[in-house]
Amino acid sequence: MRFDQLLHPTPKGLYCPSGDFHIDPVAPVERALITHGHADHARAGHTHVWATQQTLDIMAIRYGDNHCREALAAPWRETFEVNGVTVGFWPAGHVLGSAQILVEHNGTRIVASGDYKRRADPSCQSFEPVACDVFITEATFALPVFRHPGTAGEIAKLLASVEQFPERSHIVGVYALGKAQRVIRHIRRAGYDKPLYIHGSLQKLCDYYETQGYVMGDLRHATLEKDKKGGFAGAIVLGPPSAMTDNWARRFPDPITCFASGWMQVRQRAKQRGVELPLVLSDHCDWDELLDTILELSPKEVWVTHGRDDALVRWCDLNMITAKPLHLVGYEEEAE
Ligand SMILES: [Zn+2]
Ligand SMILES: [Zn+2]
Repeated sequence: MRFDQLLHPTPKGLYCPSGDFHIDPVAPVERALITHGHADHARAGHTHVWATQQTLDIMAIRYGDNHCREALAAPWRETFEVNGVTVGFWPAGHVLGSAQILVEHNGTRIVASGDYKRRADPSCQSFEPVACDVFITEATFALPVFRHPGTAGEIAKLLASVEQFPERSHIVGVYALGKAQRVIRHIRRAGYDKPLYIHGSLQKLCDYYETQGYVMGDLRHATLEKDKKGGFAGAIVLGPPSAMTDNWARRFPDPITCFASGWMQVRQRAKQRGVELPLVLSDHCDWDELLDTILELSPKEVWVTHGRDDALVRWCDLNMITAKPLHLVGYEEEAE
C-alpha cells in the first residue's frame, strides 16, 4: 500500500479514505479526529468527533456541548478502530490534551503530530515519540534562525522587570489556550506567589486546567474601577493578544507591554505590536527540536504541513530522508 493511499491532503484537511475520516478538518465532516483544541485545528460542526477527553472538554468550553453530534473520547496510548482503520492518540506536548494521531492500516503506520514541542511544559503532558513509517510534522519555526531560548530565563526577565519597576504594571499578552496557563505555571515555579490578574476571557480555561490538576495559584479578575487604578501598581496582568491594544490595557498604571510568543525572537514583530518586553516562549518546536525529532524517529518519509515547509523539506533532502510538503490550508501560523 502506498503511504498516500492511507492518508492524503484534501481541501478539508488530511483524509483517510479507508476509514472515511479527516484529521483536524477545516470544514464540517462526518468523522473528525482532532489533535488539539486550538481553533484552527478543532472546529465546531462535525458529526462524529474523536479526541482526547481534555480536547473534547476544551471544545465544549469554547463552542458549547453541541459542537458535534457525537463526541468520542480517545484513550491515551491505546489503539482502537475508526471505521475499520486502527488509530491511536499519543501526547504531543503542545497544550493540555494535545495528541499525535497514529493511523495504522495493512502494516503501514502514519503519525500526524498536529502541533507539538519537545521541551518540558508544566501545563501539559510531554511529547512521546511513536515509531512510524511516515511522520507528519508542522514547520512553524522551521528555519535555522529559530532557536528558542530557555523558558526559565524568559520568565526571570519578566520577574526582574516587575521588581525593577514596582510602580508600574506588566501586561502580558498570552493566547487563551495553553500559553496563558503555561506562563502562569512557570511564574509560580519561579517562586512568585502574589495574585496574578487575568482578563475575563482567560478564566474558563484557567479554571479547567485547575480541575485537571494544574495548580494556577491566586488568580484574580483584572477588572477595576477608575479610582482603584493605583491598585495594580507592581502587578502582573495577563490578557489575550487582542486585548493588548484596546482600552482594556490602557486602564492599568503606566503599563509595560509584554508578549509571550515564539515570534518574539523576530525583533520586527515585537516592534509592530508595540511590545516593550518580548518573552520568547513557544508551544512549537524550534529548528533543532524539529531535526532532533525527525532523526530520533527515523521515519521512511516526512510530510510537512503548515509553516516554513521548504526549509525543512530541503534539510530532509540533504540528509537522504524522503520528504514532501502537504500544502494544507486553513492552519494559522500566528495564533499559537
Ligand atoms: Zn496549536
Ligand atoms: Zn497549528
